Amino acid sequence: MSHYDLIIIGGGPAGLTAGLYASRARLATLLLEKAALGGQVIKSDQIENYPCSERSVSGFELMHNLEQQAAKFGLIIETADVHEIASIDRPPLQVLAGEKKFSCQALIIATGSEPTMLGAEGEQRLIGRGVSYCATCDGAFFRDKEVAVVGGGDAAIEEALFLTRLVKKVHIIHRRDKLRAIKILQERAFADSKIAFLWNTVVERIEGGERVDSLTLKRLTDGTIHILPVAAVFIYVGLRPNTSWLANRLPLTADGFIETNDHMATSLPGVFAAGDVRKKLLRQIATAVGDGSTAAFAVEKYLQSR
Ligand code: NAP
Repeated sequence: MSHYDLIIIGGGPAGLTAGLYASRARLATLLLEKAALGGQVIKSDQIENYPCSERSVSGFELMHNLEQQAAKFGLIIETADVHEIASIDRPPLQVLAGEKKFSCQALIIATGSEPTMLGAEGEQRLIGRGVSYCATCDGAFFRDKEVAVVGGGDAAIEEALFLTRLVKKVHIIHRRDKLRAIKILQERAFADSKIAFLWNTVVERIEGGERVDSLTLKRLTDGTIHILPVAAVFIYVGLRPNTSWLANRLPLTADGFIETNDHMATSLPGVFAAGDVRKKLLRQIATAVGDGSTAAFAVEKYLQSR
C-alpha cells in the first residue's frame, strides 16, 4: 500500500489548488479523481467572474491550466473512485478505491457537488434523450429547436444564455416570479429576444416516447395545466454534495454538506474539506480556490504539529 503525507479526494478547483499548494510545501501528495479533472467547472462554456482575466475563459481551459500548474510542482494525480475511508478517527488514514488502497497522514475531501434531479415524472427515463443537466455538453443536439430550462439561479440563466446561440427559443420555467441569479445575468436574459419566461410554473411531467417532445406544466397561481412542446429540457435546480459515500463516517449537515472550521478542518483529526462539498455561504471557483489553499496550508501546520 502506497503511503502519502496528504491525499486529496476530488480534482475540481478546490482539490487541484490544494494539490498545488501542498506540492509547493513539499508534502508527498496524491490527488484521486474518479472522472475528468476540473469538476462542474469544465461544463461552463465561459467563465467571466474568476478574478484577473479580462478575457472570458472556458471552464475547461481554466482547469487544464490549473492541472498543468499543479503537476509542474510534483502533484501526483491518479484515477480512482474512492468508496471508503478506513480508520478515519486515527491517522494513518486508509483510503479505499475499488481494489486500490492508499494510506496518508492527512486527507482533504474536495468531492464537490452534482446537479440535483427535478424529480418530475419522465425525467429519469428520458435522461440523454432530451433531459440534460449540461447545456454546454448537449445543447448542439437541439440546434434551431425550442427547448426549456428549469430553475432561476446562476446556472439556469447562464446556460439559457449559452443555449440562445444554438437554439430557436429558450423557455425558462421558474417556480417563483423573481430570479435568484446575479443581476448582470438577469439583465442579459431579460434583454434577449430568444428567451421567454414562464413564471410561477413547475414541471409536472416530461413527456415523450423515445425522446422528449413536450412538458406538462402547472401554473402555481391558479393551478392551470398546459402543454409546452419542446425538444429538450435542461435542468438547473441546484447542486447536492457528493458525500453519500461518507455517510456514518463523518458528521454532515441535514443537506449532506461537510461542516468545517475556518481552517477547513472537520471534527476528525487529519481530515479536512474544501470547495462545494463544504457547508458555506458562496459556491464559486474563487471560493473553492480559497478553500483549497487554506486547507493545504492547514494540513502543513497539522503535520508539523504532530
Ligand atoms: P441555486 O443557486 O441553488 O438555484 C437553484 C434554482 O432552482 C433556484 O432558482 C430554485 O428556485 C430552483 N429550484 C430548486 N429546487 C427546485 C424544484 N424542486 N423545482 C423547481 N425549481 C427549483 O443553484 P445553481 O444555479 O445550480 O447554482 C449553484 C451554486 O453555483 C450557486 O452558489 C451559484 O451561485 C453557483 N454558480 C455560479 C455561477 C457563476 O458564478 N457564474 C454559475 C453557476 C452556478 P428558488 O429561487 O425559488 O429557490
